[in-house]
Amino acid sequence: MSRSDASGDADATILECTDCIAPAEAFALIGNETRLSILEALWAADERPVSFSDLRRAVGMRDSAQFNYHLQKLTGHFVVQVEGGYEFKHAGEKVVRSVIAGSFNEHPTVDPFPVQGACASCGGPLRAVYEDERLGIECADCGQRHGEYGFPPGGFNDRTAEEVVDAFDQRVRHLHCLAADGVCPECGGRMETTVAEEGSCCLGVGVRVDHECAQCGHALCSAPGLRLLDHSAVVSFHRERGVRLDERPYWTLPWCVSDEHTRLVGRDPVRLEVRMPVADDELRVVMDGDLDVLETTVESAD
Ligand SMILES: [Zn+2]
Ligand SMILES: [Zn+2]
Repeated sequence: MSRSDASGDADATILECTDCIAPAEAFALIGNETRLSILEALWAADERPVSFSDLRRAVGMRDSAQFNYHLQKLTGHFVVQVEGGYEFKHAGEKVVRSVIAGSFNEHPTVDPFPVQGACASCGGPLRAVYEDERLGIECADCGQRHGEYGFPPGGFNDRTAEEVVDAFDQRVRHLHCLAADGVCPECGGRMETTVAEEGSCCLGVGVRVDHECAQCGHALCSAPGLRLLDHSAVVSFHRERGVRLDERPYWTLPWCVSDEHTRLVGRDPVRLEVRMPVADDELRVVMDGDLDVLETTVESAD
C-alpha cells in the first residue's frame, strides 16, 4: 500500500492499494515450511536486519539458490531487504505473532475451572469455560453467563489458572475500551456502538451495548457498566469507599455483568442510567448512546 496525498478532500481515504495482494495469495506465499522458518528465524534473531547468509544458516538450508527462491517469495510483502540484510514488514511480524499466539496450529482443550466471584443472578459459584478459542465466565449452578471473549491459546502458556483469568479480565477491559472508542480490536476499522434491548448475547442482560466493526464485522457486546470501569468519578467513588476497581475481575461487579442496576431511561435520545451501590452510598451515572458520561450523582443514605 502506498500513501496518497490527502489533499483537501476530507472524505478521501488516506491509503490506496497499489501493490496489495489478495488474502488467498498472501496465505499461499506463507503456506510453506521453509518460508515460515525464515519468518521465525528473523523473529528469533538477536538483532535485525539479518544478513542473507545468517538467515540461511539459522533456517538450516544448504542450497543457497533454493533458500533464495523462498526468501524472494516473502520479500516485498512480509520481509524487506534493507542495508545489511532483511527486516520484517508489519505483515511478516503479524504472521509470526499468530503462530506464537497459537491460533493457527494449537487447539488446546481446557476443562472448566473455578474462578473468583459469585453469580450475579443466583449467587452460585462461577467457572471459566474455554471453547473454540473463546473464554467465558458462567455460573456453575444456573448457567447464567457473565461475558465471553476470544482468548488465544498462547495466553495459556506459562500461566496458572489464576493468571489466565487475570489476563482474560485485562484483555476484556482493554478490547471493550478500544471498541467503545470506535476502533476495531481486530482490524483497526471503524466500530459502531448501539444500545440494544432485544436479542440475546453472552450476558443474558436486557439492556446491553453492541459494538460492530463496519469493516470486518467483528462484534462484541457488554453490559453498559463495563464502559465505566475507568471513568474517573466511578474510580474515585469506589476508591474512597475502599474498593479498587482495577484489582477485582469485572465479573465480580454486578453493574458490569447484570442489568439489575442498569436502566434505559430515554430512547430518543438514548439515556442510560447505571447505579453503583457501595455500602450505604450509591453512585448514579447517566450516559448517552455513545456511552459518554453526562452526569454523575452520589446519593448517601443519611
Ligand atoms: Zn447462577
Ligand atoms: Zn474490524
